[in-house]
This record gives sequence, structure tokens and C-alpha cells, in this order.
Amino acid sequence: MVIAGGAGFIGSNLSQRLFSEGDRVICVDNLETGRKENIAALLEHPGFAFFLHDIIEPFGIEGPVDRIYNLACPGSPPKYQRDPLHTFKTSIIGGINLLELAEEKDARILQSSTSEVYGDPDISPQPETYRGLVNTVGPRACYDEGKRGVETLFHEMHEREGVDTRIARIFNTYGPNMDPEDGRVVSNFIVQAFTGQDLTIYGDGHQTRSFCYIDDMLDGLTSLMETEVSSGKIDDPVNLGNPGEFTVVELAEIVLEMTGSESGISHKDLPQDDPRHRRPDISRAGSMLGWAPRISLREGLTPTIEYFRQELHRQKRLKGQ
Ligand code: NAD
Ligand code: UDP
Repeated sequence: MVIAGGAGFIGSNLSQRLFSEGDRVICVDNLETGRKENIAALLEHPGFAFFLHDIIEPFGIEGPVDRIYNLACPGSPPKYQRDPLHTFKTSIIGGINLLELAEEKDARILQSSTSEVYGDPDISPQPETYRGLVNTVGPRACYDEGKRGVETLFHEMHEREGVDTRIARIFNTYGPNMDPEDGRVVSNFIVQAFTGQDLTIYGDGHQTRSFCYIDDMLDGLTSLMETEVSSGKIDDPVNLGNPGEFTVVELAEIVLEMTGSESGISHKDLPQDDPRHRRPDISRAGSMLGWAPRISLREGLTPTIEYFRQELHRQKRLKGQ
């Protein structure tokens, strides 16, 4: 089993889950946004190998590989916009390198795509058949268009070369192992609530997102990877996310209440091309995989808030404060 991006937020949780189920895991990561702390406990085991590598450079793996998860790509807007060319190359060139590895090893490969392929959607919820409303030259394009391109690569490698491919369109996911400095809304709000800073709402905060807890996402990803037969074409993209939809203001209020924080709220400019709303239509995942998320936002925030509480303490101790 190869997990590219296995030291990041989703990748490290997946590494932990698959390793504890008895799989041998090879994690390939350049640590651009991932953290060794996320996989520290796994590094001690001989069944887990860490390979510090940038997937835009070709690489080989010794021995058999039966499954490849490609989770390598910064997921946070400020992080993927830091080096847009590299983000784009990660999806496209990295995607090609991993597809070629899958072909060589006769392995099944799953690509983490994103709800961002729908851009700033003009319908809600978004089914997989929706073609999207994406700006090809905006600040988010390096990410959105990279993911759209890698979906095409997966599709063509399946059609022409017979590679066994899966594509998950992941909607906003949160949980333990997120980097406190990640920059996405859930981590920002919880860290701000714990450190007494104002929660920063971009724009009026009436834009919506649908938040999926990591354990539900792992169930969806692994069942998409392992499902053999289905009513539809299993290589077609599948939305994975929680349809519960919240405004950013509602999220801020929930975080303040659940952390018991006295922090205030301040508004910042809405970033260009920030999608106004986002909510997955998950009927395809339901019919193909029998999957639906089970964990509500408040249920998922409880362990997430606890994780950040401990993580901030740990970081403070390390800095000797
Ligand atoms: P993350 O930034 O925490 O993790 C990404 C991991 O990929 C990091 O460990 C990073 O170091 C590694 N990486 C980045 N570029 C690389 C490269 N060129 N070579 C090797 N490793 C590289 O993000 P995440 O939230 O865990 O997201 C994982 C995947 O899921 C990403 O592909 C992301 O696009 C996708 N996704 C995530 C979400 C979400 O809400 N978390 C939503 C949609 C899609
Ligand atoms: N956002 C916010 N404050 C923050 C971070 C993000 O109001 O500190 C908003 C952001 O503008 C977007 C939503 O929260 O409308 C989700 O942002 P995130 O970066 O988590 O993910 P996105 O879905 O935009 O990729």
C-alpha cells in the first residue's frame, strides 16, 4: 500500500487506519504541508516506511504494491497558493508519476480530487454530473484546474491503458492531525478561540460549507477503494462529504460555544473567487458504496477541539513557554 501525502491531515489518519488494520504502508511525502509528528507513532514500526520525496520527481518502489492512495497536494488555500506552479505540477506531473507506478505494479489507484472542481457553483447541492464554474486564471486555479486535469488523466489511463482507477471528490473535511497553522476555517477558528484572538470571518460569513469528520471520510475513501462491483461505473468521480450545510458565521458561533472562549469576531476581506456555497449530493456514494456520513458537526468538533487543545499545549511546551 502506498499513500502519497501520507504525513498530511487526511493521509496520516488514513495511514494510521490502514496500518492498524494490518496493511504494510509506504508513505511518500515531501513534508510541504505534512508533519512528521502526524506519523511519529507509526515510524517505529517495521511495517510502516516513510519516503521523503516530491512526487513531481519520478520514483520507484521496490516490491509489490496493490493499492495507491494519492493524497499529495496542499489542501489549504493559503498553502496551495504559496507556490501555484508547484501545486499545479503536484496534481499533474505527480498524478502521472503515480499512475505510471500503478500501471507498473498492476495496483489500484485512488485520486483525492475535490469539491473545488465545481468552482463557485450555481447549483446546490452539487452532483457529480455538474460541470462546474471555475476561473482558469484566478488565485484558486492552480488547485482547481490541477484537480480537474488529474481527473482527466485518471479517466484516460483507465480507458486507454486499463489502469484500475478511483476518483474521490472530497468536500471540506476536518479532524485531528490538522496543522494549527494550516489556514483553513475549522483550524483557524479553534486555534483563535483557544488563544484569545478574534475569530476571523472572511467577508460577511454568509457563505456556506459542508463539513465532514475525518472518520466518515476514511470510511468513504476506503470503501471507494475496495468496492469491486457496483450499479454504476466505479471509475467515475464520486462525491464524498457531509451534506449538513453551515454558514461560516454559524461555524464561528458553534466553535465559540463549544470551546467556551471569550474571543470576539472580526471581519476580513473575502478572498477572490471564494465559493459562495458548497454542499455535496452524495446519492452516488450511497448507491455505489452504501456510504453516508454518520457524525454530525458538533460530534466531530468534540474530538477535534480536544486534539487542538493538546496540540497547542504540546507546541507551547516545546517552545519552553
Ligand atoms: P494536507 O495539506 O494536510 O496534506 C497534503 C499532504 O501532501 C502533505 O503531507 C504534504 O506534505 C504532501 N504533499 C504536498 N505536495 C506534495 C508533493 N509534491 N510531493 C509529495 N508530497 C506532497 O491536506 P489534506 O487536507 O490532508 O488533503 C489531502 C488531499 O485531499 C489533498 O490532495 C487535497 O487536495 C484533498 N482534499 C482535502 C480536503 C479537505 O477538506 N481536507 C478537501 C478536498 C480535497
Ligand atoms: N474562512 C474564514 N475565516 C478563516 C478561514 C476561512 O471566514 O479564518 C472562510 C473562507 O473564506 C471560506 C470558508 O471559510 O469561505 C472555508 O474556507 P477554507 O479555507 O477552510 O476552505 P475552502 O472551502 O475555501 O477551500
